[in-house]
Parts: sequence; structure tokens; C-alpha cells
Amino acid sequence: MNHPHGESLDHTDQDKAIAAWREILGTDALVRAPEELAAAERNTSAFPPRHLVAILRPTRAEQVTEVVRVAREHRVPLYPISTGRNWGLGSKLPVRPGGALLDLSGLNRVRSVDTRGRYAVVEPGVTQAQLANHLATHAPTLVANVTGSSPNSSVIGNLLERGTGFRRHRADEVRGLEVVIGLGELVRTGLWADPGARHAHHYRHGLGPGLDGLFVQSNLGIVTAAVVDLLPRREELRLLMFSFSEEVLAGVFDTVGELFTADVLRSIVHVFNDKRILSMSASTQVPTWTGVVAIDGSRAQVALAVAEASAALAAAGAAPREVSAEAVAGEAADPLLSAMYAVHSGRPSTAFLEGLHQATGATTVPDAATVDALDDSTIGYLACMPVIAVDGAAAQELVALVEGVCAEYAIVPALAINPMNADYAEVVINLYFDRTDPDQTRAAHACNDKLYRRLYAEGFRFYRVGIDAMEFLTEQDTAPWGVISQLKAALDPAGVIAPGRYCPVTD
Ligand SMILES: Cc1cc2nc3c(=O)[nH]c(=O)nc-3n(C[C@H](O)[C@H](O)[C@H](O)COP(=O)(O)OP(=O)(O)OC[C@H]3O[C@@H](n4cnc5c(N)ncnc54)[C@H](O)[C@@H]3O)c2cc1C
Repeated sequence: MNHPHGESLDHTDQDKAIAAWREILGTDALVRAPEELAAAERNTSAFPPRHLVAILRPTRAEQVTEVVRVAREHRVPLYPISTGRNWGLGSKLPVRPGGALLDLSGLNRVRSVDTRGRYAVVEPGVTQAQLANHLATHAPTLVANVTGSSPNSSVIGNLLERGTGFRRHRADEVRGLEVVIGLGELVRTGLWADPGARHAHHYRHGLGPGLDGLFVQSNLGIVTAAVVDLLPRREELRLLMFSFSEEVLAGVFDTVGELFTADVLRSIVHVFNDKRILSMSASTQVPTWTGVVAIDGSRAQVALAVAEASAALAAAGAAPREVSAEAVAGEAADPLLSAMYAVHSGRPSTAFLEGLHQATGATTVPDAATVDALDDSTIGYLACMPVIAVDGAAAQELVALVEGVCAEYAIVPALAINPMNADYAEVVINLYFDRTDPDQTRAAHACNDKLYRRLYAEGFRFYRVGIDAMEFLTEQDTAPWGVISQLKAALDPAGVIAPGRYCPVTD
């Protein structure tokens, strides 16, 4: 039976697809060794493995087009990844079993950087470290917006999951996408579609309907390049850190909202609970809540904004302090502060991964080669991500609900509530467990599942979800799934791109 979703894939079709892919990619770029397939299925979240028929490793966008045409002809699904570090939500695993993993890490060119236009054109395999190093060498006036994840994680995979850098939302930085749709055609969005266009990457909307959003958190296409906005390096950057107790949480969040509205704050605020801070530092004594935000500009602008924000936060009951470049320089500097300063300045760090190892029981700090091998470690890690208004009462209600559900499973959640602007805050609920302990693994999964259902029942909605929650959420009215399914049928009629990823599956 022909079946696009994998479980009962026809073996003749599968064999034909594999033979054709081998022709396109060459023998070395098509992996079928059982141990390599099993390694790709291993994941830090302990999600049940999804069977893979092969791993495909193209190195050029034209190969991706050919690979998709074969997938369409033989109806064998593809699951594209950039660098496959989607930890907490699925790692490299597809939503549905069957099909081939399309590993795009070999498309790893920084195609160009425009210093004056402040953008870079990057391919899916470009890592945050690669982009940061490239800018340091070739465009030192520009800064990348980096995440707290591995320096070896990608720019494109993160933005396609609608991830968040320390400074701003990655999806807001997209100025154009190059995408292979399920029809096997390569499409460029906006003015980039027009080879004669001057200033193509300066006006991100293009002419006619904007298409970039169609390919973010989507299975409508495979992105082979993106034009991403870069930050200018300013005269001064300071961090404003503030700690506070749970009693004043509501007032502090309302104050942060007001500071955004007044344009005193212009960069994402990260607010961590103590469990989350402990997973990022060697310290054992931390306040209940710790916030951090970058303030940059001219010296005078920074001094004014730091003073205004500090006064407002202090009035709300928080204890603010500023951190300068000088304070984090040198051997004696606090490693957590140095890492925080680095990531806000566009330099990715392994510090948060090291902290995660320590918080989950590692007695020695892993070396550079193993620190981001989370999928091969014993660390269990699940994430649940609701979105809320920047509203103190809502934040307080959500924290109480999350702590209550987690207490039922004797789990202390690591929480981050991150106001992105005056409008909304992204919440990250991390559950850590020991993957070698079946009881802990079961409890963490049951807790995560309950968090999704309880939050959903209380009217909270999610901005990013794990592969195991995808089906539950696409079965509810959480998005206009009917229209999304029609777009899927038009752009990928054989349903071969990432079945079930942010899209209902019609078997
Ligand atoms: C300690 C720690 C800190 C973290 N900090 C952050 C943080 O600050 N911000 C944040 O957002 N996340 C964070 N994460 C989560 C995660 O590690 C990052 O989001 C990471 O960037 C995702 O991995 P990746 O870049 O390899 O993307 P991938 O795993 O390659 O991609 C993610 C998903 O996007 C889709 N996709 C990828 N590439 C393509 C493509 N070319 N075409 C179509 N679809 C594609 C796939 O469905 C894939 O599963 C953190 C994780 C840890 C453990």
C-alpha cells in the first residue's frame, strides 16, 4: 500500500526511492547502517524512537530539489533537520515514524554578509558559532542574535521552530527564505524571487502576499537558505540583572511591561526561577527569581535607560544591579555573568549546557566534545512552552498552576518567563530527569502531558510544541488547521514533507 506517513510504507517504493536518492547524493551521503539510524533516533527527551529508513546528507540546494521529487514520486516522507538539536521537543526525531531523515547540516555556507544592509544569507547547516566567528572576522560592526543552546546549533532550524535568541525573536529577523516545496520546486520569497531586483533584502515584505510565515513552524517546505537580520554593535552594552521573591512577581512583571511600552527596554527580558538558574551556574544559593536584560546604545542612552529601569524595578520590590563589560572580563569574573554577557553580545556559550549537566548530577564538567552530546547522555529533558500576556496576575496564576501540577509528580520545574516586548511573554517549563531511571522517566512524561492538558483546559496556549504533543494540539482548534491542510495539499500534494509537524495528518 502506498502510504505517505510511514508506518506501512511499501518496500518496493522505499527501495526505489533509496536507489534514486543514492544516484543523486552518492553512496557516502546516504546512510542505512542500523547503528547510525539508531543513534539518530536516540533523544534526550526519551520520546519513543520513530523508525527511520535512511539518513540523507545533501550538500547543495539543487540536490534537495531532486531528493524531494523522488520522495514525491515514491511517496516516501522526508524529515528535514538543520543541525538536529531540537532538544526537549524531539531532537532529530520526526513526528511520525517511517521515511528518511534529511540532514541539511552539510549545506553550511554563509553565502554572503552585507555590512551596510545588516543582513546575512545563511544555509541550514550554518551554526551560531560559525556565524558569530564569520562576523567577528568579516563584519565586526555586526552582532548575531544567539540563543543559550549549543554553539553548534543552527540559525535556520532555530528560527524555523520559531525559537528565540537572547536579544530578540528569531522569526522576526527573517528577510527572505529559499524553500523547496513538496512539488519539488525551489521558491524564493519576497523581492528575492526577482533576480533583477535591487535592494531585494531591504524590504522584507515583497510584493503581494507575504510567504515567509508559511514556512516557519510548518511542513510546507524545506528551507535551503534564509536572509537574516543582524544587530548593529553599539558603543556600549550593559546587562541589567534583578532578583526578587515570589511575593512581588506580579508587580515586577507589570513594571517590565510598562518599561517596554515606554521604550526604556528594547531587548528580550529573561526571568528565571531558582531551579533554572541552578541549571546554569555552579552556585547553590540563588534568589527565587532572577531577571536579565541587555541595554545597549550610546553611553548616554545606556546610562539613562539603566537608571530609569533600575528605579522602576526597585520600586516594584526587585533588587537591580548592572553588569558592564569590565565586570565580566578577567579570570575572577563570575562564570554565569560572563556567559550571560557573552550571549547578549552575540557570542554563543556552552555555559548553559555545562550547567544542565551539573544540575542533573554530573560530578565533572564534560569536555567540549561531549557537552552538547545530550542525546547520548543520561540527561532527561522535556520542555513545555505556553505564551502569556505581560501581565503580573497571569504570570502568577501560571506559576501556581505549573508548580501545582509538577508537585503531583514530585518534580521541581526549571522555569523561564521571558517578556519579549510589552505584549507577550514566552514561558519555558523544563523538566529534568535521569533517563536511566524508568520511574523518573515515566513521571516526567506524565507530568509534561498533564501540563499541556491542564494549561490548555485553563485557556493557556502554546507557542512551540514537542513532537509528542503535536497530535493532541492539531486535533484541537489551536490554529486554523483546515486552511493549513489545504495549503499543505497544494504545496505538498503527496504529503511527504515532515508529516504531522504543526499540521494535522489525514490518514
Ligand atoms: C541548555 C539549552 C539552552 C537552550 N536555549 C535555547 C534558547 O535560548 N532559545 C531557543 O529557541 N532554544 C533553546 N534551546 C532549544 C534548542 O536546543 C534550540 O532551539 C536549537 O537551536 C534547535 O536545534 P537546531 O538549531 O539544531 O534545529 P533543528 O533541530 O535542526 O530544527 C528544529 C526543527 O525545525 C525543522 N527544520 C529544521 N531545519 C529545517 C529546514 N531547513 N527546513 C524545514 N524544516 C526544518 C525540523 O522540524 C526540526 O525538527 C536550548 C536547549 C538547551 C538544552
